[in-house]
Amino acid sequence: MDNGKLSAVRVAVREAPFRSFLGRQEPSIVQFSPQAGNSLVVDQNDYHFDHAFRSSVSQEQLYDALIQPLVDKLFCGFQCTAMAYGQTGTGKSYSMGMVTDKEPTKEEHLGVLPRCLRDILDRVAAQQENTAELTRITASFIEIYNEKAFDLLSTSPMDPMVTSRCQSRTCMPLASQQDLQRLLQLGTSNRHVRRTNMNAKSSRSHAIVTIHVWQEDGKELARMNIVDLAGSEGVRRTGHEGVARQEGVNINLGLLSINKVVMALAAGHAVIPYRDSILTTVLQESLTSQSYLTFLACISPHGCDLTETISTLRFAKSAKRLRLNPQQMNM
Ligand code: ADP
Ligand code: MG
Repeated sequence: MDNGKLSAVRVAVREAPFRSFLGRQEPSIVQFSPQAGNSLVVDQNDYHFDHAFRSSVSQEQLYDALIQPLVDKLFCGFQCTAMAYGQTGTGKSYSMGMVTDKEPTKEEHLGVLPRCLRDILDRVAAQQENTAELTRITASFIEIYNEKAFDLLSTSPMDPMVTSRCQSRTCMPLASQQDLQRLLQLGTSNRHVRRTNMNAKSSRSHAIVTIHVWQEDGKELARMNIVDLAGSEGVRRTGHEGVARQEGVNINLGLLSINKVVMALAAGHAVIPYRDSILTTVLQESLTSQSYLTFLACISPHGCDLTETISTLRFAKSAKRLRLNPQQMNM
């Protein structure tokens, strides 16, 4: 399937299912093109992306189309990042598999993270059948809250990381899905969660799980970042002033900074503005001309969310113009 021509920057949209408390009567504001699997219409505007996933798409279909090709790139030594963004409640955490339930998640609901780990572990096992080379897998879990990064697996998860040391983070070995569950549980119990009047559980922070692939010689081959961004809804819809308003600003800052970094890389600038946001500082080693970047824009089908949906799609459209060309580099 992957013939090496995968675009370095890809943008996909996923429509969330109807939220039951808002009723099912109204039709979705999102219309999908019956022919192409990558176009949609919202409010009489056409949008074209790499993939446009309807609310009926399964977790497996989304993973196979969007993320599995990245795993190939990872094992060729490219840095990979998959990032979900959009309004709160549109399925970002569900899609990325950043959820920790008391009950084990049913296979059909497994998100990107556990599927990705399964693929990576399968590859490592297959590799080890043929060669004596020992590949190790570890993962880190970082939260960004109000422009500060927290190492959720460290012994002091409430202390902000020193910006200059954002690249050294606590890693746990990952050899099984149980290891991943333990990591997510430990990290999630440490996450800052702020209530807003949008959603009592609304998380106002970004979460980044990074899977590191290590070679036998102790060098890192590459890493895969799975990023679950904080809700992108405008500050006018949250109930707090002060800190919460500041958070709202910072949430958009991270996404805009990624755009700016990728544009500077593509233009070959000598100075890349990584330090503009803590998100780009944390992702610095993964945002290079050797990187693959995938955006998943999560949108709501409800008419009352139209403004947010349009702003999510606008960002997706701007991300679609980003270019990187890792194939031309000498590996
Ligand atoms: P977000 O992280 O964007 O705030 P969540 O991932 O927490 O949103 O999703 C909100 C709720 O909707 C959760 O209960 C989640 O399980 C459910 N949900 C979201 N997308 C889907 C989907 N495609 N299929 C089934 N349930 C979904
Ligand atoms: Mg979430």
